[in-house]
Amino acid sequence: MTVTILDVIRTKRDGGRLSDEQLDWFIDAYTSGEVADEQASALLMAILWRGMEPAELAHWTAAMLASGDRLTLGELGRPTVDKHSTGGVGDKVSLILCPLVAACGVAVPQLSGRGLGHTGGTLDKMESIPGWRADLSPDEMRQVLRETGCVIAAAGSGLVPADRKMYALRDVTGTVASIPLIASSIMSKKIAEGTDALVLDVKVGRGAFLPDRDQAQDLARTMVGLGEAHGVRTAALLTAMDTPLGYAAGNALEVTEAVATLAGGGPPDLVEVTIALAEVMVELAGVQADPGAVLARGGAMDSWRSMVRAQGGDPDAQLPVATEHETVVADSSGFVSGLDARAVGEAVWRLGAGRARKEDPVSPTAGIVCRAKPGDRVVAGQSILELHADSPDRFAPALDALAGAVTISTTRPPAQPMVYERI
Ligand code: URA
Repeated sequence: MTVTILDVIRTKRDGGRLSDEQLDWFIDAYTSGEVADEQASALLMAILWRGMEPAELAHWTAAMLASGDRLTLGELGRPTVDKHSTGGVGDKVSLILCPLVAACGVAVPQLSGRGLGHTGGTLDKMESIPGWRADLSPDEMRQVLRETGCVIAAAGSGLVPADRKMYALRDVTGTVASIPLIASSIMSKKIAEGTDALVLDVKVGRGAFLPDRDQAQDLARTMVGLGEAHGVRTAALLTAMDTPLGYAAGNALEVTEAVATLAGGGPPDLVEVTIALAEVMVELAGVQADPGAVLARGGAMDSWRSMVRAQGGDPDAQLPVATEHETVVADSSGFVSGLDARAVGEAVWRLGAGRARKEDPVSPTAGIVCRAKPGDRVVAGQSILELHADSPDRFAPALDALAGAVTISTTRPPAQPMVYERI
């Protein structure tokens, strides 16, 4: 039977399951330009409302994968494991995790993105290191991996072109927040990169993309199912994102904090999440190692330095620093009981660290350093947040975003777990 776009749209609009033939046809016809954006938007909106059955989603993801190239990493002679985070504020975990897991004997091919909205992007952070290059060819990526055991790079344009086109459309048609669409978008790219195993850090809380725990669980289960169905050993951790991770949020500020953590220091919440993810990564790779001990003795620093150098960066270079500073002080004495990650992320973005459109430049120096975190005792007038920017004009909008972001109570709030569960 001939497939037509109107039949495809109507089937999903009315809550039906798209046939494998319809799914293959749509992905192919949209990628090649035969189906117009307005028709694809109608289908994406129908999927957002009606959802997809598991077998339907598995086939849709396979069709997305078939739209482009697949990397092969088999000849490295070492197990490969990647990690993906659904995005958070101050989330510099990848910068530490990649060299840490490499130092444990596992190869880590990390294809990363740039920040959009209130969450930062790994590539933007790494690009604050003078000379460092994100755009590597597949051969260069394999070469860096072979030499150093880890690589952080941008996904090339040949990798899942169907997602590249559809994600841009979803972004402007209110169709991002759909679990099957998010899961297939993320997993098609991760499966295409050729990793043997994958750990997903699914963030939950005010600063997360899906703040609600039930939805985060649903997304995690859907992604794990897709990975396993395509032969990628996949696990997910649900981790807390109510408060910025660590103390620093902003590109160069986060690199500095990541390097301090690689040296064996670093904020306890950041260290806890990083080690929890690293333990699952080495387990999936079938390697016996203790990432906590490796990190504590600074054992991942050499892998970091060689990875940065292999990608054109200077690990000893002075990172850029902001010229302008402002502070938010405690309005009373007591204990910090809340520090809203979403508000901090929004303020960091307004300070210049993030972008409104994909092509916008970002400031490497803009950001916020949290001088106190939930549970810390503070006195009235003490600095809680330190704002960094390249121009003083940036402070008023950032301070607006931070209104009500810090709460102080007379009793110490109970400590919150950082890792909720494994899926
Ligand atoms: N990240 C992706 O790569 N795709 C989505 O749909 C959402 C977040």
